[in-house]
Amino acid sequence: MEVAKVLSEYDLSKLAVATAGSHSALQILHGAKKEGLRTVLIVKKDRYEFYRTFSHFIDSFIIVESWGEVAQREVVEELLALNSVVVPHGSFVEYVGAERMLRYPVPIFGSRKILMWESDQRKKMELLRSAGIRVPKEFSSPDEVDRLVIVKLGGAKGGRGYFLARTPEEVKRGLERLGSPENYIIQEYVVGVPAYYHLFNSPIYGRLEITGMDIRYESNVDGLRRLPPEYAKEISPTFTVVGNIPMVLRESLLIKVFEYGRSFVRATEELVGEEIVGPFCLESIITEEGEIVVFEFSGRIVAGTNVYVHGSPYSWLYWDEPMSAGRRIAREIRKARDRGRLEEVLR
Ligand code: AMP
Repeated sequence: MEVAKVLSEYDLSKLAVATAGSHSALQILHGAKKEGLRTVLIVKKDRYEFYRTFSHFIDSFIIVESWGEVAQREVVEELLALNSVVVPHGSFVEYVGAERMLRYPVPIFGSRKILMWESDQRKKMELLRSAGIRVPKEFSSPDEVDRLVIVKLGGAKGGRGYFLARTPEEVKRGLERLGSPENYIIQEYVVGVPAYYHLFNSPIYGRLEITGMDIRYESNVDGLRRLPPEYAKEISPTFTVVGNIPMVLRESLLIKVFEYGRSFVRATEELVGEEIVGPFCLESIITEEGEIVVFEFSGRIVAGTNVYVHGSPYSWLYWDEPMSAGRRIAREIRKARDRGRLEEVLR
């Protein structure tokens, strides 16, 4: 899709931010409205009653029977007629598919190619490694396992199906239990505390911003500490994300996060072939020595930003006004439009 061609047919004074009703949609559209852009929500029929209560910041609804329709012609045509820029969140990418996102015929904010890298566990880690970011040790086969590891399935959503193991046998048994999947990675389990950094690469302001950070609240691993150890030890931890909790970091650690963020941006340019634009997230464990070990990234807005609809402690330092990640995206789009630079932020 040629962004320039689509934009030439748009009425840019009516530019709209569009997304699908899930994940971080409310925050994205709320922020877009605050920036004076129009807003479009693709919503499944059974969720319409809920989203309709936010009509004060949602201008248009595109109602679908199933998420499969997000990529269908009728929806695409409606999006184009409404002068839409799509902001893809995790669920949007899931509905359309990372591969099909490459050809989705509506301008999208940010990078399309990074979504492909994100969807492949091996490529994902390769990108982090090549950025010089510290990552957990990886084992290429179950037989190499000599310590506590976490086995991650490709395409798993929110950590579902991940399991811990300590020996080659435990890894093999776990994989068998899951029907012997082919797409998985075996990673050293890093002991420490989790921390997820929300970053934003801005071509328009020429800077990288730390927009916030969070901790994921995961079932059942975060519940195990509520049990006496003699009961907890009999239960296998699982990592299904159910929510997010805000956090701030020791200021001295922020510098490392910023450096990692900048290296990541450089690596996307070199390996992916296009610099990441807009929001992304580095997901880490911080060890007791204060080492930040990154085990995962997201190349788009993460749901953890939902804890900062009114801005985070960090976004206040840049903006001195409420600035959610959703609003930050809209600010980038609006400024790009007003300065004739939309093609730098849309793909
Ligand atoms: P992910 O799907 O990669 O974000 O992982 C889901 C959850 O598993 C994370 O939020 C962490 O709690 C945990 N996790 C993933 N990888 C590691 C690792 N290498 N060491 C420790 N915990 C991990």
